[in-house]
Amino acid sequence: MSNVTAPKGQVWICTACGKRAHDRYGFDPINRGYDESCMLHAILCYEDKLVLGDNDRVKEVLEGGVIEPQPE
Ligand SMILES: [Zn+2]
Repeated sequence: MSNVTAPKGQVWICTACGKRAHDRYGFDPINRGYDESCMLHAILCYEDKLVLGDNDRVKEVLEGGVIEPQPE
């Protein structure tokens, strides 16, 4: 699994804890603490389809927000 930087308007989110990062490996995280386990659970989403909770993590992804993985 290679690192992929999200294109403009898209972000990686961890489906386990809701943390976000600009790249899958989390070298450029949005939430502090985006780690290896987040990388394994990460999916690419449209930034404007995310609902954030009080803790600044993703609470919900609205319909059409998940970007289907492309074959590498
Ligand atoms: Zn996580």
